[in-house]
Amino acid sequence: MAFAIGGPFHLMYPARVERNIHAFRAVMREAGIAGVVYYGKKANKSPCVTRACANAGAGVDVSSTGELTAALAHGIRGADLMVTGPAKSDELLWLALRHGALIAMDSVQELDRVTALAAATGPARALLRVLPTGSTSRFGMTADELAVAVALIDREGGPVGLAGFSFHLSGYDPVARAEQACELIDRCIEARALGHDASTISIGGGFAVDYLPERAWREFTDGVDGEWFHSGKRFDSFYPYHHPAPGPAMLSTILEHGDLAARLRGNGIRLAIEPGRALLDRAGSTVFRVQGVKTRSAHGEPYRLLTVDGTSLSLSEQWFDSEYLPDPVLWPRRSGDPTPTCVGAATCLESDMLSWRRIPLPRAATTGDLLVYPNTAGYQMDSNESAFHELPIPPKVVIDDAEGDRLRWRLDA
Ligand SMILES: *Cc1c(COP(=O)(O)O)cnc(C)c1O
Repeated sequence: MAFAIGGPFHLMYPARVERNIHAFRAVMREAGIAGVVYYGKKANKSPCVTRACANAGAGVDVSSTGELTAALAHGIRGADLMVTGPAKSDELLWLALRHGALIAMDSVQELDRVTALAAATGPARALLRVLPTGSTSRFGMTADELAVAVALIDREGGPVGLAGFSFHLSGYDPVARAEQACELIDRCIEARALGHDASTISIGGGFAVDYLPERAWREFTDGVDGEWFHSGKRFDSFYPYHHPAPGPAMLSTILEHGDLAARLRGNGIRLAIEPGRALLDRAGSTVFRVQGVKTRSAHGEPYRLLTVDGTSLSLSEQWFDSEYLPDPVLWPRRSGDPTPTCVGAATCLESDMLSWRRIPLPRAATTGDLLVYPNTAGYQMDSNESAFHELPIPPKVVIDDAEGDRLRWRLDA
């Protein structure tokens, strides 16, 4: 593949996305609740992921006309779309209404605009996005704004139907999500007393991914200092690369807390989730070729400084002023001496490094070797992609196992 493509590329394995969706759904089934999975599309643009969602019966959560039309084009039906995001454009709202998507309203003003548009397009299905208690988020509505919004929605056959409530929290705390979900159930019960349907709550995304074993993560966080990085570089924070109960296990934890599952069942409420990163866990990796090698030293210890044929725009964590920590695999596998190695990009920016950290690769890398960064499908590979320096944007290669044991590859559509 590397020979055929002749530059950096991403690998995608959509069968894994389907398995991840089934794993979330299995948790819902075991908890005896009605539920639906919407893939948070911003985490990876690949059509093969959307197709996997269509195959596995998941919906897609979109926030732009580009994402909405791409989701439709790759097999998602309008009724299986969720539209989120702040102050959505009229064009996005109109398309969402035309296709019967579920719309998460972010403000009273937006509800007014949807009500006006829906008079011409036909009825809207609305979730009201809640600003979680104690949160300083710029998204969602306060309790007062929610009261105004609920009162604005006409119960009897008006253009907007109140399908329920939603939130999306940053961080990865299952307890905060379970408690917020309970508040949303109460809101549904109150809205029903006023004559609304209100039978869906969405608890958003933010299901953690477990990238590294606990020991590796503990050793890193206990020991990390600037001396570990090229040029004394320091980072303030890192993604929590180890999580004891990631993805579907985190959903189990949420449903068990305060017996949320029983409250959902008892009140006939459907649970929507919007995982992005977690549906992409182990569904992709990113391949660079070593283009140049230098030797540098820090405190008398030599280390390798590589230049690869791509940029950190294809490994996005640097965008958050942080670093992607799972070690890349050096290919081909050959014996040699462990060699601390940093990885720079093929651009003229001092700051464009894929790995500032001196990674203990199993041998000294040489020109022509491949470096494979694992598990990059979630947010790493294409969120920031750009033809900076007029370098080509790395293509995606899709691995297909439809023929049983025989793996096939093709370029992504
Ligand atoms: C980004 C986002 C998601 C997906 O978040 P992940 O952390 O990738 O699971 C889901 N819902 C909303 C509203 C979002 O903004």
